[in-house]
Amino acid sequence: MDPLKRLGLFGGTFDPPHNAHLALARAALDAFALDALHWIPAGRPWQKTRTITDAAHREAMVQAAIDGEKRFVLNCIETERAGPSFTLDTVRALRVQHARAELFLVIGADQYAGLHTWRDWQQLLGLVTVAVANRPGPMPAVNAEVLRTPHRVVPLPMLDISATDIRARVARGLPIDMLVPPDVARYIAQHGLYLRS
Ligand code: ATP
Repeated sequence: MDPLKRLGLFGGTFDPPHNAHLALARAALDAFALDALHWIPAGRPWQKTRTITDAAHREAMVQAAIDGEKRFVLNCIETERAGPSFTLDTVRALRVQHARAELFLVIGADQYAGLHTWRDWQQLLGLVTVAVANRPGPMPAVNAEVLRTPHRVVPLPMLDISATDIRARVARGLPIDMLVPPDVARYIAQHGLYLRS
């Protein structure tokens, strides 16, 4: 029998993974007593227009970031799948693999505000418990139907960190050590990532 009872799903571009991702993931593990939390790098994020760093680099950085926490798992289901990344496809696949687990979809407030634009979002909401974390910045109003669907709150202080800012800092030669785990900073330097933003 599948031993997982409570499984967290944490999708993102992770270009690169940063300290707010880690804080959010840790807070979700604790708040919902998750047996595991899968970090799922997006293959082709259909809503992002800029060029995304190769999946192999993003996966390596996620692996470096999550080392040391046994309940964190790198899940490459979206980067191994051809075509754009739709969360519903991912959730359906994981639902088959973990038929008895409650699935927690862990997202920041910016993603929550845009959830009604995701493909087949009503079906998605029927399959998962959405767990939302604070995120600084202006937030568009959350769609009324999304709001009516019960959700959980991930207790997270406001952390003003974004991958966009980290990429811009690297391109300008500014330090990023306080924003990403040391192994991720090393990986970015070794592979010359983000030198041009
Ligand atoms: P980018 O700046 O490139 O858009 P990002 O920093 O938003 O990237 P993503 O990989 O797109 O990072 O985010 C993955 C998930 O983590 C999303 O659900 C996002 O809302 C959440 N997240 C990212 N940064 C924060 C933060 N500072 N506080 C709370 N949630 C966050």
